[in-house]
Amino acid sequence: MNQELNTDKVIEVEGLSRHFGKKEALRNINLTVRPGQVFGLVGENGAGKTTLIRHLLGAYSAKTGSVRVFGFDPVANPVAVLGRTGYLSEDRDLPLWMKVRELMAYTAAFYPDWDQPFAEDLRKRFGLSLDTKIKALSRGEKAKAGLLMALAHRPDLLLLDEPSSGLDAVARKDILGEVIRSVAEEGRTVIFSSHLLDEVERVSDHVAMIHDGAVTLDMSMDELKEGHHRFVIRFSESRECFPDVPGLLHVEGSGREWRVLCTGALDELNGLLQETDGQIIETMTPTLDEIFVARATGIPSKTMAI
Ligand code: ATP
Repeated sequence: MNQELNTDKVIEVEGLSRHFGKKEALRNINLTVRPGQVFGLVGENGAGKTTLIRHLLGAYSAKTGSVRVFGFDPVANPVAVLGRTGYLSEDRDLPLWMKVRELMAYTAAFYPDWDQPFAEDLRKRFGLSLDTKIKALSRGEKAKAGLLMALAHRPDLLLLDEPSSGLDAVARKDILGEVIRSVAEEGRTVIFSSHLLDEVERVSDHVAMIHDGAVTLDMSMDELKEGHHRFVIRFSESRECFPDVPGLLHVEGSGREWRVLCTGALDELNGLLQETDGQIIETMTPTLDEIFVARATGIPSKTMAI
């Protein structure tokens, strides 16, 4: 039996910073993850996702700030944290000389809660043969084997670093669409990093964006959707630039017709449109991908103060 969670926060990170030489890999990170959440961590290459995950595992100790997992410092209490955590590393890190059968028996020995019927079920579902050596597995099969080891002891917390990497579209849908959601439906918590924003959007109920070591967005998927808008705007006369409005994240266009992505400052936008004889001709809900690109590319250049 898994121990009861001793906190309503599975993860609490406060003021976490990390330097590697002159490189500031994490800058004052504050994050809270609650039980049962599927928490998507997105960011471009080198943003700091893996460095953050390694702090959660206790592989790196917090030099500045603090990290708590199940209420424990993972460096000071590795057993209390790692015994309840399933981890799939970005590099998969599996012993290549073992067969699938041996890896399952070896991993089971570490976890009193290892669920062998569930492990067998996952193995068959992932199409892994017991007598195949890990080194003979394809990249995608290694990801599946790593995921099996992370899942089969039914951890309270599942930490997945780029789980889709190497998986084909069918496996991605199966793993992200079904496995992750079913883990969360049992009240367990999942944190996964991904470059594939359509998957994060489909599977997560909370998303945090990391950009250059800092959290630039941290909100539920519902808030994200409700708080961002895409409009096509038409002015009565041609314009050189789009007027600068609060909450504007991205703008493109020319002449009379412009496409904008903005946060919820709709009153200001409407006021501006009245002053400038513009009107919204189309309203759309932006995808996570569009929001991410708009936020990562920063302040729009084709704007001017009204
Ligand atoms: P990716 O999506 O490419 O895996 P990431 O978001 O996981 O990237 P990290 O691996 O956390 O990014 O790296 C963040 C930054 O810290 C990068 O600039 C990286 O080069 C640097 N970095 C990470 N680990 C080390 C290390 N051990 N020594 C020096 N620099 C490091």
